[in-house]
Amino acid sequence: MHALSQTTERPPIVVVMGHVDHGKSTLLDFIRKSNVVAGEAGGITQHVAAYEVEHEREGQKKRITFIDTPGHAAFQTIRARGANVADIAILVVAADDGVKAQTLEALAAIRESDIPFVVAINKIDKPNADMSRTQASLLEQHVYLEKFGGDVPWAAISAKTGAGIPELLDLVLLVADLEEFKADPTANAQGYVIEAHRDQKRGIAATLIITNGTLESGMAVTAGHAVAPVRIMEDHKGKTLKSATFSTPITLVGFDELPEAGLEFHSFENKKLAEAARVQKTAPVESAAATEGRFVMPIIVRADAIGSLDAIAHEVKKLGDEFSGVKIVQSGIGNISEADVKNAIGSHETAMVIGFNVNVDNSARDHARQFSINVETFDIIYKLTERLEELLKTMAPKRTVEESIGKAKLLKVFSSRKEVHVVGGSVSEGRMLRGGDVRVFRRKQAIGVGKIINLQSHRQDVERIETGGEFGAEIDASFELQEHDIIECFKTTTV
Ligand code: GDP
Repeated sequence: MHALSQTTERPPIVVVMGHVDHGKSTLLDFIRKSNVVAGEAGGITQHVAAYEVEHEREGQKKRITFIDTPGHAAFQTIRARGANVADIAILVVAADDGVKAQTLEALAAIRESDIPFVVAINKIDKPNADMSRTQASLLEQHVYLEKFGGDVPWAAISAKTGAGIPELLDLVLLVADLEEFKADPTANAQGYVIEAHRDQKRGIAATLIITNGTLESGMAVTAGHAVAPVRIMEDHKGKTLKSATFSTPITLVGFDELPEAGLEFHSFENKKLAEAARVQKTAPVESAAATEGRFVMPIIVRADAIGSLDAIAHEVKKLGDEFSGVKIVQSGIGNISEADVKNAIGSHETAMVIGFNVNVDNSARDHARQFSINVETFDIIYKLTERLEELLKTMAPKRTVEESIGKAKLLKVFSSRKEVHVVGGSVSEGRMLRGGDVRVFRRKQAIGVGKIINLQSHRQDVERIETGGEFGAEIDASFELQEHDIIECFKTTTV
């Protein structure tokens, strides 16, 4: 499957950020209305959280995807999850207002995400627009603009009249060219949930942006716990799609629960596979005591692919024995996130988090450290199972195990003084050991436990007597021994 993988250019995904009232919505509206993809007639009828436009640069038509979420909540969540759904940011600064508090917040978010950005100095049509003051306020914040000794591309625009917007889009495409965003159309689609809502008539719908692969009708998608069949798939204008690829925003209807904005989604050949791969809700883990004495070590597993998860589940089942075992309480595909660590804390008995061929998000690492949750990653399955086996051994409560060594029949009780009984007997099974513990049976009923303190054969002290041998012994026991009692010699070990 992977042998056929190939990468091609991927259109950039762009987010517009900046201070309130500086013109983000106006800019997004203008671009949406004036740059519809060729062949699509008519205006936009519905507001969707992302849209795709076409822009011509140097004679070449190129696509750009814009995230259009009011308040940029999605971008914040996505950023908090450590994922970079946006490839490029446009920082809008009004020329009549300059850098303001939320400009700084946006700038901090952009820098933290480490994505390239372009500055749009907006509202240049306004009489009180002050270009040089706005530029100076940006330079003060270490935003070194091109032509001012820096390399941050910028355009002077009016979101109202459209002036400068083609130049702004040129810059976005120029940055995209430099960054060389690539994706593989032969892969199963994956990407991010930008927004999700409950539609009165149609059920749960979500806007997804595909960042890699192709999504086809008949496949199924998981985002966190939520699963949806790819049946009702539409573009940003409500047109039905049979297939979609990067960086196309789509609306997918039919999720079985509301997926959170910012979640990563993955696609599978069919619904059955998707359901098997979805992040399982934390099932209450049976406590060690509640499972008939069986100790259960709960784990949360994150892997790179459904095949790996299957293989891990298969191996994990084999671990342990009738007294202890490992249980996967939650599993999913993708990096170990803060949510996994929280679930580990929240589960009935603190779980550990295991990753296979995945990374650990920084926030997950911090959280794990803070709450002392064990997070470990592996890239070889047998190493993973070996480690789980070792952990299981150290964590499972210690048990004493009895091993039967032999049985003997008492032929004679010579004397009993205090608790020491001098007896004669013959070994019917296995052997008797000096120092061995014995359980005494009378008419098949156990009546107590004692210890062989001395053992003799033909009046000579010996360490052991094998099957068929007759012996004399001193047995320490707090109860009377009788002829015909059966004694069973046993060894106890702690495991
Ligand atoms: P947002 O909060 O950043 O999304 O800002 P809006 O797009 O809602 O714009 C805030 C106000 O500024 C609105 O009244 C817009 O009409 C106005 N506005 C936005 N861009 C321009 C512009 O380029 N020129 C002028 N004159 N007004 C603008």
